[in-house]
Amino acid sequence: MFSKVLIANRGEIALRIIRACQEMGVATVAVHSTADADAMHVRMADESVCIGPPSSMQSYLSIPAIISACEITGADAIHPGYGFLSENANFVQIVEDHDLKFIGPTADHINQMGDKITAKGTMRRLGVPCVPGSDGGVADIAEAHRISDEMGFPVIVKATAGGGGRGMRLAATKADLDSAFSGARSEAKAAFGNDEVYIEKYLTLPRHIEIQVFGDGKGKAVHLGERDCSLQRRHQKVFEEAPGPSIDAETRARIGKTCADAVAAINYAGAGTIEFLYENGEFFFIEMNTRLQVEHPVTEAIFGVDLVQEQIRVAAGEPMSFSQEDLTIRGHAIEVRINAERLPNFVPCPGKITTFHAPGGLGVRMDSALYDGYSIPPYYDSLIGKLIVHGPNREAALARLKRALGEFIVDGVETTTPLFHALLEEDAVKTGNYDIHWLEHWLEAHK
Ligand code: ADP
Repeated sequence: MFSKVLIANRGEIALRIIRACQEMGVATVAVHSTADADAMHVRMADESVCIGPPSSMQSYLSIPAIISACEITGADAIHPGYGFLSENANFVQIVEDHDLKFIGPTADHINQMGDKITAKGTMRRLGVPCVPGSDGGVADIAEAHRISDEMGFPVIVKATAGGGGRGMRLAATKADLDSAFSGARSEAKAAFGNDEVYIEKYLTLPRHIEIQVFGDGKGKAVHLGERDCSLQRRHQKVFEEAPGPSIDAETRARIGKTCADAVAAINYAGAGTIEFLYENGEFFFIEMNTRLQVEHPVTEAIFGVDLVQEQIRVAAGEPMSFSQEDLTIRGHAIEVRINAERLPNFVPCPGKITTFHAPGGLGVRMDSALYDGYSIPPYYDSLIGKLIVHGPNREAALARLKRALGEFIVDGVETTTPLFHALLEEDAVKTGNYDIHWLEHWLEAHK
């Protein structure tokens, strides 16, 4: 086992990883920018190193600064959390070149899945169902028209290097294709420095269903069921639940096995998520995330596992602590992502927290790095906490979420908490009968 793990991240996920290490008796190192000197992850870790100025580019994304922090503190492994360097294959290579261990998959696997066209090709070969579309990159607008005409509209133009909902444009009809194509390209160029795009059939009323997988890197892999993350704003998840209200045990076992077999076949190591759109009983692969997801706690709740400890164990060369037969679902879990943002337009609202009170009680988990008197810096994303509830069934989980939201107090900044109070009153949310467009329509109608 590692003696000391450096956490190359901040906020709630840094705390999540520190907690996992503490329970395993592993020492922790926090890294932070000058803007985060007073952050909770710095206080909770055994040691901390300031790695640069506020700008992420010069701190949380600075590979030399992070490697130096490992060398100074004698950390022997790095956990990247999500975002920042978590899916940067170049970083993984450099970490390994310094005889440090990256807690996550290999650079090769990250590369393979980071490029969406390569990922789709790999998954198709491994027997995972994919969205119909171009076989590879689409070179020019003439080819875009030819492929779209063949497939039929609507289509979506997507950046090969895409992520975070960027570099994607819908063409509802043929008349929209020229602007969708050039729009996706220029956004991709600006965001990822790579303007390659591909085309997919646009599914009109799908749900977003993702399968959690976990591999030991030696050909053994399991699945931990699905999460339904259909409630999205601008392609960003805001409310996630497990199990998915539209998925039955037989469907789960079938798609879960397909995914576990696929990652076992490539000797995948650690946690991964295979994302699908799900429409009319059919799954269509869209991408694989080679890291821990923001919404991993709902899976932890229903399976009673600690995915971060499992990542650490596997990275340290230990066997996985569970097999497929050990994994059974208990109850239902829901997570809501609470942001420091002003409704109705979701304008970021950084500032000083005057009062913070986290909800508690049976089946309630609050993953947050806030505390009384903390000032949320304006430089990073606006997620201030994840509220996760677990109950014996969906109805109980919803009731628990309502109760817990009622206990939650954050003064000093505005938050998106009122959105969740309102959503819990909606029939679509109560019954679980929503698709990936439902929330956008609802927000439009409730401006
Ligand atoms: P990113 O990596 O930027 O998050 P994804 O490929 O995961 O991009 O897609 C994000 C979201 O965009 C999906 O959850 C879905 O809401 C929408 N989307 C992507 N591809 C399609 C498609 N073919 N049809 C309909 N919606 C899509």
